[in-house]
Amino acid sequence: MKPIYMDHSATTPLSEGALNAMLPYMREQFGNPSAVYSYGQTAKNAVEKSRDRVAKAIGALRTEIFFTSGGTESDNWIIRSVARLKGRGHIITSAIEHNAVLRTLAQLEEDGYEVTYLAPDRLGQIAPEQLERAIRPDTILVSIMLANNVVGTVLNIRELAAVARRHRVLFHTDAVQAVGHIPVQVRSLGVDFLSISAHKFCGPKGVGAVFCRMPNKLPPLLTGGGQEKERRSGTENVPGIVGMAQALEEAVAALDCTVPRLNALRDRLIAGVTAIPGIALTGDPVRRLPGFASFTVSGVGHSVLLVNALNECGYCVSSGSACSASSKEASHVLLSLGYEQSEASSSLRITLGAENTEAEVDGVIEAIRRCVARLRTESVTRAPRLEGRVADYGAAGERAND
Ligand code: PLP
Repeated sequence: MKPIYMDHSATTPLSEGALNAMLPYMREQFGNPSAVYSYGQTAKNAVEKSRDRVAKAIGALRTEIFFTSGGTESDNWIIRSVARLKGRGHIITSAIEHNAVLRTLAQLEEDGYEVTYLAPDRLGQIAPEQLERAIRPDTILVSIMLANNVVGTVLNIRELAAVARRHRVLFHTDAVQAVGHIPVQVRSLGVDFLSISAHKFCGPKGVGAVFCRMPNKLPPLLTGGGQEKERRSGTENVPGIVGMAQALEEAVAALDCTVPRLNALRDRLIAGVTAIPGIALTGDPVRRLPGFASFTVSGVGHSVLLVNALNECGYCVSSGSACSASSKEASHVLLSLGYEQSEASSSLRITLGAENTEAEVDGVIEAIRRCVARLRTESVTRAPRLEGRVADYGAAGERAND
């Protein structure tokens, strides 16, 4: 039987429309957009049309959109370039950001920038007053994500950005998990910069975008041939850009249908899973992404074991915790929300997409019930060998890096 995919916050399948839109630019229309002859101009037109479509989908101007290689590059570009622009100063972020933000800021700390990591409440929310208190005369940037990739909480970016604006501090939001899943409009959010990644909304991997309200001032991260109006050098990923624009337009056009449908499926999943003793919801129960369910599961050891057991039952889900073949760290997000080490390393994330059905949701609830019961029975004998098994299962379990 084909495995049932329920890990849409890690990545999503390419939409049919995006694939069809991309295909011509992989073969017949292979031109380099910088070339003056017709192949080049056809590719350039496709890139520019895509820029219009991406801008329209998030309420931006075409001149404010720049294509990148994905969310990681977008986050890096904004943070590093604002730092470079200002030369020194203080940056505010949250403790639950993706590593694309956290590790970038850690490097900037080594270079002498000061960083404040705001601690969210248990649900993953940051109060505007917290930000207000943290802003200093030398604060140059606030970077806080729109939706969290481990617990699915949607943060109140509009209010947080308003605080930064009052203090004339630039505001970036990593909207990688949000765009294409909930309505996102840059003007009503009031942000200066926003990061996007296509593979999170049924577009291709390795392509993303930045919304930048002050495009002429922000120095480039990548220098070279001067593409993207000197802001981001490198030959454009034409099929990727075309596929991203198509996928985003489709996702945004379908929001009126997908949001209520995925909210209902998610709530069914949450009700079924939390009815199992020892399993609790993580993140905000109300302000959370559609289709996004995340839990702590007691008594099963490291969540990699549960993820692997569910994989054997035919369900592709994720552990919320950082774990690779060589490490079994607990999720920094759950630890920041105040969970104990043992709870933070026994998390489960199930993220539904358009193709998932009620029957599949009921099936995974039942599979979780069976796997948890089995793992709890085994846990007494397993404890001494856990280290080795977590390492063995490292590839099937995974990380908070998506
Ligand atoms: N930011 C968040 C919140 C994410 O979930 C991801 C996903 O991996 C990224 C950034 C990185 O995006 P990409 O995979 O496009 O580099």
